Amino acid sequence: MHTAYITHPACLKHDMGEDHPECPARIHSIEDQLITSGLLQFLDRHEAPRATREELARVHGRDYIETIFSQAPSSGLVYLDADTAMNPHSLEAALRAAGAAVMAVDMVMSGKVENAFCNIRPPGHHAGRNSAAGFCIFNNVAVAVAHALEQHGLQRVAIADFDVHHGNGTENIFHDDARVMLCSTFRHPYYPYCGANSGNDHIINVPLPAGTSGAEFRAVVTDYWLPALERFQPQMLFFSAGFDAHREDDMGGFGLREADYVWVTEQIKEIAARHASRRIVSVLEGGYALHALGRSATAHIKVLSGL
Ligand SMILES: [Zn+2]
Repeated sequence: MHTAYITHPACLKHDMGEDHPECPARIHSIEDQLITSGLLQFLDRHEAPRATREELARVHGRDYIETIFSQAPSSGLVYLDADTAMNPHSLEAALRAAGAAVMAVDMVMSGKVENAFCNIRPPGHHAGRNSAAGFCIFNNVAVAVAHALEQHGLQRVAIADFDVHHGNGTENIFHDDARVMLCSTFRHPYYPYCGANSGNDHIINVPLPAGTSGAEFRAVVTDYWLPALERFQPQMLFFSAGFDAHREDDMGGFGLREADYVWVTEQIKEIAARHASRRIVSVLEGGYALHALGRSATAHIKVLSGL
């Protein structure tokens, strides 16, 4: 099998309230579509382990990690910021989400699979070194990247973040680490209201206006991401796979369709084939229109699987 599919039931129990868009049904919307499409049976399915404190501490401060552990409530909700809360299951979900990304790196690096998709929540790319934000508690993709660097000895890895929001937490963690290239397209000005001017040689930020179409998205990926990635020659690639730039997603205000996610996945797959022994780990970020999320993630995973 080409592709691992890693998730955990705890990710369904993290619940920030009835009307919160980052809801447990997001996990089901992807898995239901994987079943309907017939794709799930061709994926190597695993339950995520918990990330360890040591794995988290590669990208988060020790005090921040302990604060998250100590704030986990035994009942009700505890708010980490205006949009991000913990219920009694959230710590377990957050540990399994980061643990899924670590497991994905280990499976891909061992050669058991070419690539992996982590159907997990809470998402991660707004979580900084010492901050929860924007529905995110631990930065799952950053924990995975640090694992690839520290545990597996890679020297250059790259993250492609096509979520409609800027991956500011990921940038915060790796802004001064030239081993990590972050390629991020995002609506600007828009939450989290940063990133337009903070790029450097290895942080490739592409701010885009509201209403950006799939064609415009492809054009900037072609102009900015792909040449940078070709120069960088990453040894492993990661997706911060948020699907809230889909045209049906009211939160995003972009016009992407499934075909655009297919296209960008193909482009990154080609880079991975040329430079990274095909190694890709994809981690779910945003995506709040449930039908569009299921279809888009399935289209993305289908390309990863090569089926
Ligand atoms: Zn987002």
